[in-house]
Amino acid sequence: MILRASAGTAAKIGFRNGPIPEGLKTAYFMLDGKCIFNCQYCTHARSSLCNGNSLSRVVWPQVPDIENLVSRVLSSDFKRICLQTVSYKGYKKDVLTLLNLFKDMRVSVSVRAKNIREVEEYFAAGADRVSVSLDVATPRQHTTIRGGTLQNTLDLLRSSSSQFSGKITTHIIVGLGETDREIINLFSKLKEINVTTALFAFTPIKGTALQNRERPSVLRYRKIQLARYMIYSGYNLEDFIFDGNTLAGFKQLPKEPERAFLTSGCPDCTRPFYNEKPNGVLYNIHTERLLKDLKVSLKTMFNSTSESSTITLEEVTE
Ligand code: SF4
Repeated sequence: MILRASAGTAAKIGFRNGPIPEGLKTAYFMLDGKCIFNCQYCTHARSSLCNGNSLSRVVWPQVPDIENLVSRVLSSDFKRICLQTVSYKGYKKDVLTLLNLFKDMRVSVSVRAKNIREVEEYFAAGADRVSVSLDVATPRQHTTIRGGTLQNTLDLLRSSSSQFSGKITTHIIVGLGETDREIINLFSKLKEINVTTALFAFTPIKGTALQNRERPSVLRYRKIQLARYMIYSGYNLEDFIFDGNTLAGFKQLPKEPERAFLTSGCPDCTRPFYNEKPNGVLYNIHTERLLKDLKVSLKTMFNSTSESSTITLEEVTE
């Protein structure tokens, strides 16, 4: 078994020197091996030229001693473990072994599960949550960039959620060719079936097939974060203003709209610097303190022919 920890996690449990990200409440681990899939954005894809010790832009040092790791994590103040796995031959057995070792903790298993029986096995072994990633939000790009169909993964999410209500998460990456309307419609479907959405910003990594694709602008990401937050707070598509397939504004806003910019996903998941360099602009804001420093201007444009106002995100300065 090759188990890696994110650099921040490894620092917090004392396996490595280095800074411990502020407010790190989830310990991030990755089961590593040769992946059978070929997602064009992934450092572990079959055709990737990356060296395999990173996921997105985060470096994951190998855990030297798993027994020692377990005792350190159990005596830490981590509230959750995120166990992500590469789809190598035999990964399921390793996930089940680790679930057994971490049985006293809340564990989110993030896995490209083949079917509902596999999801059932993780819950039976003690998983608190299971995340099955959609990653790519449009049917046409899903098949070419990730492989498989969006509908099949949605069907698996639906059946998993109906059996394990409130315990299913998915990941969606912004910036893989989807329109605003497509991704917002998808949030709506996922909310309807009670699946939590964790948002990521596409990050081009050297050595992957999409290394030359641009990241989404921070402004677009903020718009999509806000749309996700509003859908999950009970707003619906009528509260958004579209110009064609582009989200042009909001008819109303929730209280404290800036909370939309905090990292989304399983409880206590903050994924610090997963999408961004520590000295760059943060796409996902991982602490309340950083959120206070964030300045997003919400510009209100009053439409004289209508009683409602249109609210647009005007600029982002950090
Ligand atoms: S949302 Fe966070 S804790 Fe949950 S599976 Fe994704 S990365 Fe892990």
